[in-house]
Amino acid sequence: MANSKKEKIIIIGGGIAGLTAGIYALNSGFEAEIFEKNAIAGGECIGWNRKGFHIDNCIHWLTGTRKGTDLYDIWTKVGALSDDMEYADIDSFYTSTYNGTRVTLYNDLEKTEKELIAASPEDEEEIKKFIQAVEISKQCVFPGKKPMEMWGVKDYIEMGKNMADFPKVMKEFSKISLEEYAKRFKSPLLKRMITDYLPKEYAAYSFLVSYATMADGNGKIPMGASLQMSLRMEEKFKELGGIIHLGCSIEKIVIEKKRATGIELKNGEFVSADYVIPTIDAYPLFKKLLPEKYMPGEFAKAYNEPGTYPITSGFQIAYAVSENFSEGETIFVDIDPLKVAYGTCDRMYVKAYGYDPIFVKDGKQVIQTCITQSHEDFAVWKSYTKEEYNKVKEELIAEVSKRIVANFPELEGDLEVLDCWTPLTYERFCNAYHGSYMSFITTPEGKQIRTKGRIKGIDNLYVAGQWTSSPGGLPVAAASGKFAIQRILKTQKRSIDI
Ligand SMILES: Cc1cc2nc3c(=O)[nH]c(=O)nc-3n(C[C@H](O)[C@H](O)[C@H](O)COP(=O)(O)OP(=O)(O)OC[C@H]3O[C@@H](n4cnc5c(N)ncnc54)[C@H](O)[C@@H]3O)c2cc1C
Repeated sequence: MANSKKEKIIIIGGGIAGLTAGIYALNSGFEAEIFEKNAIAGGECIGWNRKGFHIDNCIHWLTGTRKGTDLYDIWTKVGALSDDMEYADIDSFYTSTYNGTRVTLYNDLEKTEKELIAASPEDEEEIKKFIQAVEISKQCVFPGKKPMEMWGVKDYIEMGKNMADFPKVMKEFSKISLEEYAKRFKSPLLKRMITDYLPKEYAAYSFLVSYATMADGNGKIPMGASLQMSLRMEEKFKELGGIIHLGCSIEKIVIEKKRATGIELKNGEFVSADYVIPTIDAYPLFKKLLPEKYMPGEFAKAYNEPGTYPITSGFQIAYAVSENFSEGETIFVDIDPLKVAYGTCDRMYVKAYGYDPIFVKDGKQVIQTCITQSHEDFAVWKSYTKEEYNKVKEELIAEVSKRIVANFPELEGDLEVLDCWTPLTYERFCNAYHGSYMSFITTPEGKQIRTKGRIKGIDNLYVAGQWTSSPGGLPVAAASGKFAIQRILKTQKRSIDI
């Protein structure tokens, strides 16, 4: 039993943010209990088995795999990574194809530059600018030492030194979307390459920073899949004396006299706490667990203006195919237009997972595809009856399979469907707002959400989770968990050097 004299922190949600908050809480001398609605920890960072194959739900790249970065320090402290971790041997971000031509974004930027210029000599000037912008974007390394409101002059000077040229990139690329940026290229292949990976509404700099993270060796994929990373963190939390309640949905945070006195479980039971850290999606947090009056203005604005604050979800299918199939790890192809829910897509990718034995069985490997889904798509999925939903999924599986075979004829007769899931899966599994598995997309028009994790009118509640800072993702989730504990320590006038 934990020492009863210790102050108790209750953490709602056992995803990456919740587990990180829990581990930092225990390391800082608190008692910590996590309440997670699912039967398994990890939240969005999980995977599952079908027909004996493991399907991965998350890590396409994990920012913070480079030693010496703030995030690497967090990932190792919470047991997600260790110095002897092995990473997938992948030397590229992705490959785009069009009309029999192809280009690959290698981690080696010189190699990429040569490849792009060879594919489209008429774009040479723009390609050189692109490569230079990616090179500069390597300076943009996630700051995870402490929350920004605790930064002093020295911290800003250090950031200024480390990111001296990055403001130039932001000036040029934060105000245009990827769709607009793509227009600068003449080649239809390069236009597609620019908009293939991230939704086209994203501010262009997000793509540059993502590619730079890979190219800088700071965005690798740990071997052993996403779920295993979450389970390592859960194990660490338990080893340190933390208690995790799985299958335990929280209905309400109880507020009395400006304090969160505890939480109420589904069965009506009340559990008291000295501090509460919710890490769940912000929508159910402010719509259900707390009275809506506590919703910060920036969230209310974002929910009211979905056009300016889009979200990302996906319609996804996993297959087992021959282990020999390898067209590069992630490859985008042109497809006959396909209506998926509301929108119509004409590009699609196939990612081959044969790089890690965990995804390989009996000479077969898992491949997956994901078609981006929006607010409007979510509304269509939501409107279906159960029968319609299942029927539409079956029809789409057939259509997507046809398009995969059209692009990869060697897969004819070799596609075994393992599973198919939609934005509704994320809503059901993680209470995710419109099925979004990241926070709001950073667009040129929308304001980037960056909260200090505090709620006006509640003294001892510290919000963490990917929604505290758009566009979310694993780095934000982990750092927000650590920041919540630092914010508590600061109010207690204790060291935040954790
Ligand atoms: C397909 C896919 C690919 C992705 N790829 C990447 C990638 O390559 N790189 C990257 O950085 N990020 C990626 N992400 C995003 C990443 O998974 C998330 O940003 C991150 O896992 C969010 O962590 P979190 O702890 O903030 O939230 P969550 O994972 O949502 O955790 C919140 C937890 O709270 C629980 N919960 C909700 N309501 C309640 C309640 N009432 N009571 C109790 N518990 C509750 C949920 O079940 C969940 O476990 C991807 C996500 C998906 C789905």
